[in-house]
Amino acid sequence: MVERRSKSKAGDTCSVDKCDEPSKRSLPQKKVRKGLPELKFTGVAGRVHLCRKHYKEYKKATKSERTMNRLGMMGGK
Ligand SMILES: [Zn+2]
Repeated sequence: MVERRSKSKAGDTCSVDKCDEPSKRSLPQKKVRKGLPELKFTGVAGRVHLCRKHYKEYKKATKSERTMNRLGMMGGK
């Protein structure tokens, strides 16, 4: 009846600044910022949409962070 949904559809592209790829995943902004602190996101509150490429980058970033932590734990004293 009331077309409230039409606006949320606009969020179906990647939220990364200057990226127009269709979004593959939506994630909490906090998490993504932690993984990819150098990226800028446009018009988001709470959740960000990531395209395939940026999702991959995010996964990679968080993965290497974890590995680094683990190495630090093992190697460091
Ligand atoms: Zn993207």
